[in-house]
Amino acid sequence: MTTPSDFAALGARAAAMIEELGALSQTPEHLTRFFLTPEHRRAADLVARWMREAGLEVSEDALGTVRGHWGPVDAPRLLIGSHIDTVANAGKYDGCMGVVAGILALDAINRAGLTRPYGIDILAFGDEEGTRFPTTLSSSAAVAGYFSPANLELRDADGISLREAMVAYGKNPDDIPAAAYDPNRVIAYIEAHIEQGPVLEAEGEPLGVVSAIAGASRLSVTVTGEAGHAGTVPMRMRHDALLGAAEMALAVERIAKADAHGMVATVGRVHVEPGSINVIPSRVVFTVDLRSGSDISRREALTRFEREAHRIADLRGLGVVISAFHEVATVPCYRDLQLRLRNAVADLGHRAVTMPSGAGHDGQAMSRLCPIGMLFVRCKGGISHNPAEYASPEDMGLAVAALVRFIERFQLPQLAA
Ligand SMILES: [Zn+2]
Repeated sequence: MTTPSDFAALGARAAAMIEELGALSQTPEHLTRFFLTPEHRRAADLVARWMREAGLEVSEDALGTVRGHWGPVDAPRLLIGSHIDTVANAGKYDGCMGVVAGILALDAINRAGLTRPYGIDILAFGDEEGTRFPTTLSSSAAVAGYFSPANLELRDADGISLREAMVAYGKNPDDIPAAAYDPNRVIAYIEAHIEQGPVLEAEGEPLGVVSAIAGASRLSVTVTGEAGHAGTVPMRMRHDALLGAAEMALAVERIAKADAHGMVATVGRVHVEPGSINVIPSRVVFTVDLRSGSDISRREALTRFEREAHRIADLRGLGVVISAFHEVATVPCYRDLQLRLRNAVADLGHRAVTMPSGAGHDGQAMSRLCPIGMLFVRCKGGISHNPAEYASPEDMGLAVAALVRFIERFQLPQLAA
């Protein structure tokens, strides 16, 4: 199987399924599908129906993760998954593409009559985006066996707790521990996902293999100067907090550009006081979001930034306080799985681009359970979290075919370290 005409047919099916799933929304005019909502229920039911049609046994756990089981029940499991929740006013491909690709791959495997000494479970997670509750990856965390019960008391914007939302969804919070896989029974977790960035398009390649899910640091930087009359204080006598902050933001850019690990850094929020057209800014608070595929380079960059910020503040007679409010470590993708995914892509006549993922994924949670591997699919203009998000049927067909090749070649559950 999986000749080029099969790829096209698989891609067309993927595109039709993504359209159908993308129509299940809180509002008709755009796609919004949050965790444990009626539209999540409808999406989960549709995914379950597709799984059954592909010949899978379907179950659903306490946090709403839909699971399609294939192959020998008592054998170790290869897990393939992604998420079916979305951000507000989302694109149709983020998450859903990976779930659809997994189902279509197993459908093709079933049609080809392939058997394996291991089982495969397709997982459709419900809480990757963290758009409803102030938590993220709670469904994959439950599957990986480290869901924190304290999260049950977190509340959404309407004051509904996660516990209450689960009960309304027909679930029992006491069943969460049963959602966890036994680590000894799991071989690996594989996720196909749209790239959500422009690299594959620029490289002219449909598929990429993820080397690591980038770690991230978020800082809040407060710069204090002295307010003054915009008309009377000479330039040489000013302590303008905004000019200091601007120079620090440029230092952030310089540090990220000098990094060899594809570091990206963003100053996305700036608050200026008093914020008046004729007053010299006295206080500025800005954020830094810094991500890298290497924790070492990320920490070095943070140290460099701290040094630079203090140097700039000293030269300008300003005060600066830096506080880190969020820190996530890099999750490397398993080398053996990267190689197997690259080989699967090479079998299809393409060169897989190896790249870090700057966005977070369920794989971060799943890495606490088992080795993970990720396949990226080119998306138009690198646009994501936006209704304009798009991956071509041809590229999605190749992604499904790559998963099929990966499974066809994956004879033994043993992975090389
Ligand atoms: Zn996603």
